[in-house]
Amino acid sequence: MSMGRIAVVGAGLAGLRTVERLRRLGHAGPVTLVGAEEHPPYDRPPLSKAVLASPEAARPPLREEDYAALDVDLRLGTHATGVDGHRLLLSSGEVEFDRLVVATGVRPRRPAVFDGWSGVHVLRDWADCVGLRTALAAGRSLVVVGAGVLGCEVAATARGLGLDVSVVERLAHPLPLGPAVGAHLAALHRANGVTLRCGAEVTGLKGDGRVAGVELADGTVLPADVVVVAVGSTPNTEWLSGSDVPVDDGVLCDRTGRTARPDVWAAGDVARMPHPWRAGTVRFEHWTGAVDTAGLVAANLLADEPKPLAAVPYFWTDQYGLRLQAIGLPDPADEFEVVQGAVEDGKFLAHYRRDGVLTGAAAMGMPGPLAKTRRLIGTG
Ligand SMILES: Cc1cc2nc3c(=O)[nH]c(=O)nc-3n(C[C@H](O)[C@H](O)[C@H](O)COP(=O)(O)OP(=O)(O)OC[C@H]3O[C@@H](n4cnc5c(N)ncnc54)[C@H](O)[C@@H]3O)c2cc1C
Repeated sequence: MSMGRIAVVGAGLAGLRTVERLRRLGHAGPVTLVGAEEHPPYDRPPLSKAVLASPEAARPPLREEDYAALDVDLRLGTHATGVDGHRLLLSSGEVEFDRLVVATGVRPRRPAVFDGWSGVHVLRDWADCVGLRTALAAGRSLVVVGAGVLGCEVAATARGLGLDVSVVERLAHPLPLGPAVGAHLAALHRANGVTLRCGAEVTGLKGDGRVAGVELADGTVLPADVVVVAVGSTPNTEWLSGSDVPVDDGVLCDRTGRTARPDVWAAGDVARMPHPWRAGTVRFEHWTGAVDTAGLVAANLLADEPKPLAAVPYFWTDQYGLRLQAIGLPDPADEFEVVQGAVEDGKFLAHYRRDGVLTGAAAMGMPGPLAKTRRLIGTG
């Protein structure tokens, strides 16, 4: 069945995988892929790990094969600026579509306290990565603000490069996986020489326009010639304002990826959808979630009966040569039970439960048992 002209906005992981899946499933109609960045789609996870650590490392491509084989009208360096009926408005020109997929991802939040300072970085795209690794190569002391996955990875990479590293976190522990896993991660960072300040708030920066230190609410000043702000993200949806595509901290869609406007769909970090295990809606910012939602949307675009997302959420993080993996929708407030190994040994599988129901799992050094749990959760 042909769905006519399909336009995909956002030439990142979700956008590219949507196009690839459409072609694999036999869609023969015109496909346009619009990307604000100048580069063909590349992989982001290495930008906080191996690629950040190596000045020579190139952008990791997401597709090795020729784009010609995809038969896609690839518009790079082009911003989508609006939707008017079936016209996608671009920074240069416009594209007519029958179906539109929004895959514009997110961008880092940057609180006003960091405005106007040089030496302050965020990390999302290739330009950010090149800027940060140049700064790390010349820097001596790094302060990372935010001990989520990204902040912890940058801290670990910078320690590997020999910088003095401090991490400031507002919450009691790093990572949103509860106190036990958080305490283990905290111990891991401290054992690797990081000064970790949890329950701490940044109140200002010190320096003469170029950052020299980060001031905390208790008056401490942490020395820094490089600062990385990793305090969450904002979905890239402003370009949809004034259109009839519903937006609220992401593009609102149902569990099939379709928005209230039946010809507009969303995939990847920007997509916000209901989930059977949670009240309200969820939006994932994980590599696998982007691939899963892209595959779902591509299949549903071509299907008579769209199907809901069935994949169990998954993410991983690599720090100090160790891999922590998590599945499902674990909440720090859930009951936590170690079912294999011991957290303090850095080799464990733990289950999260709410009202007796398994909500997720986390593991270190136990990929097999975690995969088994993922299948268990997936089958209810
Ligand atoms: C440094 C880093 C490390 C990560 N590490 C991990 C990890 O270890 N494990 C894990 O599970 N996940 C990780 N992730 C998350 C994972 O990479 C993302 O979930 C994934 O890239 C999301 O894909 P996406 O296509 O939704 O968004 P993106 O990859 O961000 O792509 C969106 C694209 O849309 C473009 N765009 C935005 N607005 C417009 C517009 N108006 N017009 C045209 N184009 C537009 C953007 O420029 C961007 O290129 C990491 C992310 C980063 C940044």
